[in-house]
Amino acid sequence: MINLILFGPPGSGKGTQAKTIVEKFDLTHISTGDLFRYEIGNKTPLGIKAKKYMDDGLLVPDEVTIGMLENKLDNSNNPNGYILDGFPRTIAQASALDAMLKERGTKVTHLIALDVDDNEIVKRIMERGKTSGRADDRNEEIVRQRIEQYNELTSPVYGHYDKFGISKKVDGIGEIDEIFNRIYDALTVPVCDSQECN
Ligand code: ADP
Repeated sequence: MINLILFGPPGSGKGTQAKTIVEKFDLTHISTGDLFRYEIGNKTPLGIKAKKYMDDGLLVPDEVTIGMLENKLDNSNNPNGYILDGFPRTIAQASALDAMLKERGTKVTHLIALDVDDNEIVKRIMERGKTSGRADDRNEEIVRQRIEQYNELTSPVYGHYDKFGISKKVDGIGEIDEIFNRIYDALTVPVCDSQECN
């Protein structure tokens, strides 16, 4: 079983890579950004609440996000495992995830962080904004706000899982296939969770 957190700043290519990883390993893809956009599209109370934060480039409050994620986990049961894309984005979300998975007799097995510098990210997101239909991709100030939220609130999640020896960085610059191969290698190298392999 693989329970992968696909990690990295906005615009680092998580969604693109998740599609291929899902096919290769037959996993279920859970993207909190997509879940929020679905709720917004259906004008649900959750969507209306989330939209205010997303439009401003801010994280949606933890209790809203954690509740939505737990709901999704309850409604999807894949023995091969999951790719979490865009979750957890805070230490509180990581702790809640660990508890949720423990209750279900499983745990996070890998965190792979796509490494891309801020200038490249802004360039990519502004380019994506031309076709994505996402308002939060079109305004540079909002994009920079999202990067700031990532640096402040999300990047510590890497260290949270690094304590368990399961965090890895992958160079996120290059051709899509090339980056996929790096992720594939990171996923298939045996994970060491015993003292002896150190
Ligand atoms: P990107 O990775 O390009 O930022 P996402 O689709 O993952 O795009 O996220 C879009 C927005 O949705 C975020 O800026 C944030 O407002 C909200 N969001 C997504 N996931 C989370 C989360 N785990 N916690 C809080 N807010 C989230």
